[in-house]
Amino acid sequence: MSNSTYASYPISLRLADQRVLMVGAGRVATRRVERLLASGTHVTVVAPVASDAIRAWAEAGALEWLARGARPDDVANCVLVFAAANDSRVNRMIADAARSAGVLVQQADDAQASDFLVPALIERGPLQIAVSSDGAAPTLSRRLRAQLETWLPRAYGDLATLAGEFRQRVREALPSAERAAFWQQVFDGPIAEKVFAGRYTEAQIDLEAAMTEAAARVAAQPLAESSPPVGEVYLVGGGPGDPDLLTFRALRLMQRADVVLYDSLVAPAIVDLVPPEAERIHVGKRAERHTLPQPDINTLMVDLAREGKRVLRLKGGDPFVFGRGGEEIAQLAESGIAFQVVPGITAANGCAAYAGIPLTHRDYAQSVIFVTGHLKAGELELSWAELARPGQTVVFFMGRRALDTICREMRHHGLADDWPVAMVIDGTTQNQQLIVGTLSDMPERVAAVDADGPALLIVGEVVRLHEKLNWFEPRGDISSG
Ligand code: SAH
Repeated sequence: MSNSTYASYPISLRLADQRVLMVGAGRVATRRVERLLASGTHVTVVAPVASDAIRAWAEAGALEWLARGARPDDVANCVLVFAAANDSRVNRMIADAARSAGVLVQQADDAQASDFLVPALIERGPLQIAVSSDGAAPTLSRRLRAQLETWLPRAYGDLATLAGEFRQRVREALPSAERAAFWQQVFDGPIAEKVFAGRYTEAQIDLEAAMTEAAARVAAQPLAESSPPVGEVYLVGGGPGDPDLLTFRALRLMQRADVVLYDSLVAPAIVDLVPPEAERIHVGKRAERHTLPQPDINTLMVDLAREGKRVLRLKGGDPFVFGRGGEEIAQLAESGIAFQVVPGITAANGCAAYAGIPLTHRDYAQSVIFVTGHLKAGELELSWAELARPGQTVVFFMGRRALDTICREMRHHGLADDWPVAMVIDGTTQNQQLIVGTLSDMPERVAAVDADGPALLIVGEVVRLHEKLNWFEPRGDISSG
């Protein structure tokens, strides 16, 4: 025994309609009981006092609670025993009784003396991941569990449920040699993505169709190559720059894309997260410096998807905020190509947060307006009278070139010369620069700064709050605050 490699052997127990004894009714016992009840187990709790939850379950008839001290004969007729009293002598007495009766027992306060360990568990529907350190470092297991929790989309459970619904029928419809490849395609393709996007019913219909089609193909040509997978497009917001601001979904899709089309606006640190096997296509688009005209980008996405590729269109910020995301997917929709849209943190939110400038505030701004400062034929066609009002915050995207005009028009339409303005350049990145000034001196301040990253302009009294709320310290900060 001393030279064995592992201290334990992991299994999953089916405890439905089996009797389990829980001695003790504190916090740990309650957690275990809750999970046992979820497995349909008959639980008998023995403890003089019980937690509120255990008392409630007992009242509801979900379990049996014996409000007294434990006795050796309590272990009779049980398949498993948990000794989780807060008195180690009671636990030892119960453990001994269990062992004499040939029943496996866990002693909550003594892992060495226990017959089994309870792993830290991550569950998504029928999908279970048990993390155990074989008794060596339970705290480490719990940490790992917390990390895995954040990594596994909730919808993995739905995917497992969907697969469970079809498992038997797929088994009947397809020979075993075809089955693994079939499920592989389901889990890697548009059906799984539909589940992840919350479109379960559609996924069910598609899976039904895929199964029928696969069965027909096998019947016709048992040795035929499986048909190429259908391509799809993910329109994904990459956030303003800091890779930590990506969504879990964005990261997951990035890691499984075949081709990634990205703009200049997407921070290099984010493009770096695309796996090396994926093809990367830089489609440009910083103000006037388009490398690929918009119609070509739209067509390219359709062509790539038709080749069966998983195409990820990675945009800066949020794809639906001044990102022409709507135009890009319109052509996909017309071409009947499956797509989904993943929101990102827009530069307005990211820059505001990292500059310590709340976009709204009870005293200073009851509304916030996002507006484009992009010049069309050298002109800005904006309703200045609506923008130049107190009590609101105005965020200008693409406003650097038109900064002079913006400041002039805002003053001209009634805002004070010393009305606060901030420009955030390369927001949320380590090169973030924050320039704070007023409508009258801002053009001059900005002209004095040497930086050509994307720049966001925030106009409004909330800008003053940054003096108190500034927290982010990038290397390039030259705040004049
Ligand atoms: N879809 C994007 C906006 C695209 S328009 C979003 O939701 O953020 C491009 C403009 O966004 C830039 O001109 C700039 O005004 C702003 N922008 C994007 N990223 C930025 C960043 N990291 N720092 C400052 N401004 C940014």
